[in-house]
Amino acid sequence: MLFEQLGLSTDLMRAIYDQGYTKPTPIQEQAIPIIIDGNDVMGGAQTGTGKTASFTLPMLRRLEIYANTSMSPAKHPIRALILVPTRELAVQVHESVKTYGKYLPLRSTVIYGGVNVDAQVNAVRSGIEILVATPGRLLDHLQQKTLGLSKIEIFILDEADRMLDMGFMPDIKQIIQLLPEKRQNLMFSATFSEEIKKLASKILKNPVLIEVAKQNSVSELITHVVHPVDTTRKQELLISLIKQKKLHQVLVFTRTKQGADHLAKWLNHSGISSAAIHGDRNQLQRTQALANFKQSLIPVLVATDVAARGLDIEELTHVINFELPNNPEDYVHRIGRTGRAGTKGFAISLVSQEEKKLLIDIERVLGIKVRIEQIEGFELRNKNQSLSDNATSILDSKLKSNTLPQQIKKELFVKNNSTADHFKKEMISKLRNTRRSEKIVDPLFSQPYVSTGSDVKNVKDDSNVLNKKGIHKKHSNRPLPALFISPVIGKQK
Ligand code: AMP
Repeated sequence: MLFEQLGLSTDLMRAIYDQGYTKPTPIQEQAIPIIIDGNDVMGGAQTGTGKTASFTLPMLRRLEIYANTSMSPAKHPIRALILVPTRELAVQVHESVKTYGKYLPLRSTVIYGGVNVDAQVNAVRSGIEILVATPGRLLDHLQQKTLGLSKIEIFILDEADRMLDMGFMPDIKQIIQLLPEKRQNLMFSATFSEEIKKLASKILKNPVLIEVAKQNSVSELITHVVHPVDTTRKQELLISLIKQKKLHQVLVFTRTKQGADHLAKWLNHSGISSAAIHGDRNQLQRTQALANFKQSLIPVLVATDVAARGLDIEELTHVINFELPNNPEDYVHRIGRTGRAGTKGFAISLVSQEEKKLLIDIERVLGIKVRIEQIEGFELRNKNQSLSDNATSILDSKLKSNTLPQQIKKELFVKNNSTADHFKKEMISKLRNTRRSEKIVDPLFSQPYVSTGSDVKNVKDDSNVLNKKGIHKKHSNRPLPALFISPVIGKQK
């Protein structure tokens, strides 16, 4: 399909040509005509799919009737409100509004916290049709009565899942109450939890559901790889990767703000220019860091999940997870920075033994097995210990994914949670003892969680050495030991 077939105006088409876009992305193809027609929309799309243009272009198309060059603020009431979770995203969405609306005499501004309100008040007072805002600062303005929302015709909630994660639900509810009853509503979210569905049912009227990618799925253009490494050697490995692969634009994720600061300092100290971006840095520092990174003045930007949310950096080929996120959905968001709009991307994760459980959760959510590549010289120090520790996670994961052998499952299900936990510990402790004394089969690893696939060939980590059927080489011909043939089953009857 072509942009020309979507019902956009000449002025919008000119702006699209200026951007060099040759054809609409799937979400644009579906959403643009539906939004122009005035429908409410629930859009399931992650960043990188072209979703910003998918709502900005039809919004501008619908507001074109109000475009005027009058100097009077009264002629420019706020007609569209775009709510986003973070300052960075607010700035970026506003950039898109300006980019696509550059040939239209429609006015817009952006408001977010962490900066002086005066300039924002002046911008709003002069009259604007489109307002991009973060919830907290918008509420401040509403309470101070420095702006009003009574003329809103289009309400857009972007990255709704993140809004909820960040605790914006009460703010959103307050804001919605101040909007006129009759309006068009558009809601976008990368994931659809029950909470999101509830929110959608409150906000949207007869929405058209548009989903361009499977729930929690990630771009197929992204190659995922895990490098097992001890926590204490991660910095060393990161530097080695950046230098060896000659990475010149890489976004590195840490779990904490302190971690981000520390890592950025360490990289700089090692001769790799970098900056950290997180919630404790003021707006100027964040904008400066992002600008330097985008202009390739620094090759590495170290970020936390919240700060990086919605960052749009063109041609970002590499995302490195210095630490895995606790929440698997954050992994999806992190790597959404790469593999955008048809370009290839690499998501590299440095994973310690302690993080293997997180990796299993991520794989479950993504529905893929991530390739494991052991970098020579960075092998894990204590493999036996970690194998056993990992058994608990694998057991849990197998339970969740319903791939645990029937017999073991029965064992676990006849117990309540606490005894099941105790039972697992008991099994693992037996496993450890057995391994030490008799070098006998580890039943969990004789039927490993990595089942099939080409990834298996690349696995070098001892804990995951598999044959073609996905069976651990060392144990493939051995039967399950008696450990799991337990009398408890009999007792159950
Ligand atoms: P988004 O999903 O809105 O964060 O957009 C991701 C990136 O895709 C941005 O850099 C956009 O400029 C770019 N983009 C949006 N629409 C198109 C398109 N139709 N063709 C090529 N690139 C696009």
